[in-house]
Amino acid sequence: RPVVLEVDGLVRHYVSHRGPLGLRRAGVVRAVDGVGFAVREGETLALVGESGCGKTTVLMEILRLSRPQGGRVCVCGRDTASLGAGDRKALRREVQMVFQDPFAALNPRMRVADVLAEPLTAHGVPRAKSRNRVRELMESVGLEPDLARRYPHGLSGGQRQRVGIARALALEPRLLLLDEPVTALDVPVRAEILALLRRLRDRFGMACLFVTHDLGVVQHLADRVAVMYAGRIVESGPVGSVYGEPAHPYTRALLDAVPPADPRLERRRDRVVLRGEPPDPASLPAGCRFRSRCPRYATLTAFEGALCENDDPLPRPARTEETAAHSVACHFPLVAARGGR
Ligand code: SF4
Repeated sequence: RPVVLEVDGLVRHYVSHRGPLGLRRAGVVRAVDGVGFAVREGETLALVGESGCGKTTVLMEILRLSRPQGGRVCVCGRDTASLGAGDRKALRREVQMVFQDPFAALNPRMRVADVLAEPLTAHGVPRAKSRNRVRELMESVGLEPDLARRYPHGLSGGQRQRVGIARALALEPRLLLLDEPVTALDVPVRAEILALLRRLRDRFGMACLFVTHDLGVVQHLADRVAVMYAGRIVESGPVGSVYGEPAHPYTRALLDAVPPADPRLERRRDRVVLRGEPPDPASLPAGCRFRSRCPRYATLTAFEGALCENDDPLPRPARTEETAAHSVACHFPLVAARGGR
């Protein structure tokens, strides 16, 4: 399947005058610091991590479709650094976004039918065709036709997110970006929206990149997962492989923090508990960025630990017998099989 999105060495730094405790001091915040991945047609990649790890910044950099500060972004085979204004507009219809808060994303003064027709009109779709397309879109996301005349405030949270998804699909994009698409919804509605997103992806075959802090959501929607920490991807691979045998201590700690699906089940005795806070992105430590919170680092010899202190770990295959499909950026990855989750 063709690659729809290719990101290589993406960098986004900015100057901040405010430290983490509100102290005034200038520093270069390395929000995204050399991130790379690819998403193929019909595939879903989840970017996960704690808030502030840079995952949403990655999404926004892709959505801008302009030259990144560093690295390269290719969408549908086009390098965004080389796009003229006309090319950018044409490519914009191939890249659509579903936002976290469906209410904030919809114009409160527009009826549902107008919200859905707006992108069609902006791209020159004739009025009669656009009316039919709005009907089709509402049907494909499970919205009753009589909702077309409602305003967003007259809809439930789930209905609003369905409108947001329908609007994103209006121009039949090849790449769908989703920013925490179910976080703002009630738990029962989340399952419905996740099932809808899966159905639509399978039906239309677009590539999806979604950002979340919820590891449970990843299992329901993604084929592959990339775990971010302090502006970098520390582990990536097929969801089954990463969840079944996490190789990075951070991934393992994130997974161990998820309560078991059955509350009667006991938690693992050897679970890794994540302590402390991520490092200040304006003054990242030398060597491994996860070192201050890494439970594995504490068990290493001084000789081994020196590697973590001085050398920034680069991604490499997580298991020797596997291909690069599952990669980890750690000098001493976890090797023990933890069994299925
Ligand atoms: Fe921990 Fe060292 Fe691996 Fe970093 S490189 S995650 S400090 S073991």
